[in-house]
Amino acid sequence: MNIDLGIPLAVRSALAVRGVRTETSVRRGPGAGPSDDGHLVVDGVNAALPIDPGSPFVVRDGRILHGETDLGVAVTPVRRPRFYDLATADGVPYEQIALLHGADVLASTVVQTCIRYGEAERCRFCAIEESLRAGSTVAAKTPAQLAEVAAAAVALDSVRQMVLTTGTTAGPDRGAKHLARCVAAVTAAVPGLPVQVQIEPPERDRHSDLDVIDELKAAGATAIGIHAESLDDAVRRRWMPGKGSVPMAEYDAAWARAVAVFGRNRVSTYVLVGLGEDPDELVAGCASLIERGVYPFVVPLRVLPGTLAAQDGAAAPDPAVVADVTARVAALLRAAGMSGAEQGAGCAACGACSALPAAGA
Ligand code: SF4
Repeated sequence: MNIDLGIPLAVRSALAVRGVRTETSVRRGPGAGPSDDGHLVVDGVNAALPIDPGSPFVVRDGRILHGETDLGVAVTPVRRPRFYDLATADGVPYEQIALLHGADVLASTVVQTCIRYGEAERCRFCAIEESLRAGSTVAAKTPAQLAEVAAAAVALDSVRQMVLTTGTTAGPDRGAKHLARCVAAVTAAVPGLPVQVQIEPPERDRHSDLDVIDELKAAGATAIGIHAESLDDAVRRRWMPGKGSVPMAEYDAAWARAVAVFGRNRVSTYVLVGLGEDPDELVAGCASLIERGVYPFVVPLRVLPGTLAAQDGAAAPDPAVVADVTARVAALLRAAGMSGAEQGAGCAACGACSALPAAGA
């Protein structure tokens, strides 16, 4: 089946891996998840791309060029949002509480520390505490702060959805209860704003269980991401010694509960390309997720400054492999009738960090 969506998937995959040379007013430094990028609208769609002076792609006169070849792709930088000029009554700049992602997504890491950030346990691709060290954010955002920033971002900058993620906290809920309080405050301040929450599976013992997923839904969350990053236990142990020690059965249980509570295609997980997984096995794992109603948000590994992966000399994946995996997962998603937009909120609905939108998913 041919999908004619504008930007060719091979080009979008190469951009995701190699980045572009351009100026952008909306950028984020190394932090949680894919980061250290600039935010653009490419062919009408959000794109969060590495800004790399060594990239073979350059933006000139609103077009993307490869060398001197115009690729026929229109690009607009996201403009600096007005809410970045505001601060709370106690002097915290809004920009340190939440950031604009793409043209219309507000995103915040509500707890910017992670119990797994010691070198023995840290996910090797993660830079969650680097933005805190750089002084560009605050360690913990309160529900009231997030509600205040969300109201301003919607009123001043036409934000259409919000993503709330968190570093893993020490309690058995892994940070989900604070997220629930944040969602409740945001949705009270901005009724109707779709909000996605992102959590690790809650620890299941006598103190805590999966009911916290119901609490997140009851608080007003539209969608939920429970991010495994890889479905291969050997890869998980190598790249995520702390998080990878959580048995996949815990993810399976959390995804199943989340689909029961939030509905099919309101649940997602990141799946990183470039951690050394066999591409066929990666696609088979995604097929299994899709069968269960979970959207696999396929994203190429970014080797961020300050990460253990950068210390290791890890390399970004081959754009051809990213394109191949993305095309195959997109075909499975389309066959299942699952689109990122139908998540309502979250990374799959935004799409900027993935090539999936260019593949029709
Ligand atoms: S896909 Fe997620 S992390 Fe990437 S820009 Fe969009 S909301 Fe932000």
